[in-house]
Amino acid sequence: MFGSFVASTVFRLGNNKSLLTTRSYCPHCKKTISWYYNIPLFSYLWLKAKTKCCNSSIPIFYPVIEGSTAVIFLINWYCFEYNDLVLISILSVILIIIFFIDYYYFLIHDILLILFLLLTITSLFYYQLNPFNVSFVSAVLCSIFSMLILWSIGKFFLIIRKTEGLGFGDVKLIGIISLWTGFSVLPILMVIASIFAIIHIFISSKLSFKKIKLVDLKAPFGSYLSLSLLILIYLSKL
Ligand SMILES: [Zn+2]
Repeated sequence: MFGSFVASTVFRLGNNKSLLTTRSYCPHCKKTISWYYNIPLFSYLWLKAKTKCCNSSIPIFYPVIEGSTAVIFLINWYCFEYNDLVLISILSVILIIIFFIDYYYFLIHDILLILFLLLTITSLFYYQLNPFNVSFVSAVLCSIFSMLILWSIGKFFLIIRKTEGLGFGDVKLIGIISLWTGFSVLPILMVIASIFAIIHIFISSKLSFKKIKLVDLKAPFGSYLSLSLLILIYLSKL
């Protein structure tokens, strides 16, 4: 159910559509989808990836998002309990939405960053869910420091290559993520996210039909920053 909510939020935010429409509808023929054709994962398999209304293909994006949300909820349930389980589940929904919107649309919406920031403040400083034992002062300093570093790298790239290499969304995102990691874990997080991004670039260069120079390929860095934060939080529970 949460996976289905995540998938429709990603689709609607990514395509600038209202989040407030209650019923799911087919993006091809605009017909409302009956609940029995809208069961997460199962409907995709049962309908063999085709819509019932107009026989258009259902993008693989839906079952991928629904399935990965389910897996992450299972890990949360395994690693956390009580208040922490609720907080970490809300956090993972926000991070999965950020991951997929940046992955598919290269966008990081401010509304998601605001929710992420509010949840971060509540979790870390009110409920003391602190996976890396970071103090308030160190968290805030690390946040300012990391935003400055990423912003300077972005500016530097803009001057050298005359095109935007790092969006301001990434800068704001790292500022919030740094509140979780503090100075000691931030470098590890940056290394993991960068490795993911480099692998992404190599795979997309192998898959692209046109000859694109490696330096001109893009990777959704915000996606990999969010994913790395979740991975490191889980590793801290081992
Ligand atoms: Zn249709």
